[in-house]
Amino acid sequence: MSDIYLKFVNTPMGRTTAQTLGLPSPVPLKRWKRTDQPFIEGDVLVGAVNGSKAVGAIASLLSASPAKLFHASAVDTLNDSSRSGNRAEALPLNTDIDLKFSALVLDATGIKDTTDLRAVYDFFHPTIRKLAGNGRVLVIGQNPATCRQPAKAAAHQALEGFVRSVGKEVGRKGATANLLWMAPGAEKQLESSVRFFLSPRSAYVSGQVARIGKSTDAPATNPVAPLTGKVALVTGASRGIGASIAETLTRDGATVIGLDIPPAMEDLQKVMNAIKGKALACDITDEKAAGQIADFVKEHFGGIDLVVHNAGITRDKTLGNMPEHFWDMTIAVNLTAEELIDEELMHRQLLRENGRIVCISSISGIAGNFGQTNYSTAKCGVIGYVEAMAKQVKNGVTINAIAPGFIETRMTAAMPITVREAGRRMNSLSQGGLPIDVAEAIAWYCNPASNGVNGNVVRVCGQSLIGK
Ligand code: NAD
Repeated sequence: MSDIYLKFVNTPMGRTTAQTLGLPSPVPLKRWKRTDQPFIEGDVLVGAVNGSKAVGAIASLLSASPAKLFHASAVDTLNDSSRSGNRAEALPLNTDIDLKFSALVLDATGIKDTTDLRAVYDFFHPTIRKLAGNGRVLVIGQNPATCRQPAKAAAHQALEGFVRSVGKEVGRKGATANLLWMAPGAEKQLESSVRFFLSPRSAYVSGQVARIGKSTDAPATNPVAPLTGKVALVTGASRGIGASIAETLTRDGATVIGLDIPPAMEDLQKVMNAIKGKALACDITDEKAAGQIADFVKEHFGGIDLVVHNAGITRDKTLGNMPEHFWDMTIAVNLTAEELIDEELMHRQLLRENGRIVCISSISGIAGNFGQTNYSTAKCGVIGYVEAMAKQVKNGVTINAIAPGFIETRMTAAMPITVREAGRRMNSLSQGGLPIDVAEAIAWYCNPASNGVNGNVVRVCGQSLIGK
């Protein structure tokens, strides 16, 4: 369903009307379009708090991109080694800056206590108005859980509040703000996440925190098709978000097994034909489903690398009016089936080394929602499952979740117009997301270089006002 209001406010008459009436003026988001498109272009300003550790990795990644790199001399700790080879120009932050930045990046891993938070102000205060439309703010801090000193943990936790507020300020121009919490020594694991959060692939991700853990060195991948040679299972792949996930993983080099219920076979076959994938007719709540999936995987590919649990249903009713089969079905599809499929694939050793499991939660699972006790219970359970499993997975396997907000699909098109309009506008970007926005975040998790990204729940919700 197209967002007519978004189109209208981006006409001269619509812009004037919105300004006069004080209505939201969403900016069209730039999404990643071409396989040869660089992850970032334009002028990028990088700063680092004294003693920060990630700036070298960030500078060398950016210097290999077409972006023109500046470093902020006022808070500069870009040392000679990190600067060597890149084209960073020093930019004094105490003067008028005559530039528009496509990204402002601050390595704040060096923050030692709360007084150091002043460096965050010093970097962003003179530059935030210079952020271009559809720009990116990215802060890198240390995961507070790894800080021994309470004052240090407090300061790094504080960065979350900072980023969430900046996201609300810059969202008006279609820009985003996000935070990476790095574990000590995880500099080499940063690259895939920095690429994702600075690129148009994260157009609808704002106000989020991703935790990057230390891991073994990632294998070198083809940046254009990082999933080459991988086999992916995507459930609920006949339409909506699932179809987009299947297409996006194929674009990135994977071979996809698309699964859906038997009545959806015609649609599923169309999607699979277009991407040369394999269709599997299966109701994941069937008691034989996990075994059927494992047999299919073994027979056709011998094993699986990427498992995306996308299939989901809603059966809304207020609790007192909810028939028991509404409760049972919603828990079975959205939660229990995922556990049983993973258990079977792992028990039969079909999930390969460095495998990826991705689950789909929802902002309803975080904030709760009227008439959705069953759905919110299931989607919150998904978060618990991912967090617990992340501690148990072995052999380089990771498990993460995406919690989508309002995404333009058949599911949301079926909402009453007032609820739909509220869902679209009640976020920092004042618009709904597209299935591709969820798919791009899943592709980031699935990237072999995201091996330090484990146990995360990242929202793809344009920084919805609902939930924490
Ligand atoms: P959708 O209804 O368009 O697609 C869901 C797919 O799952 C369908 O193809 C359906 O046939 C399949 N499916 C349902 N039950 C199944 C079963 N028992 N076995 C196999 N397949 C089954 O939904 P969507 O909007 O594309 O949502 C995809 C996922 O994202 C779901 O998990 C949903 O809960 C979640 N989500 C969506 C939104 C949104 O705004 N659209 C927001 C938050 C979360």
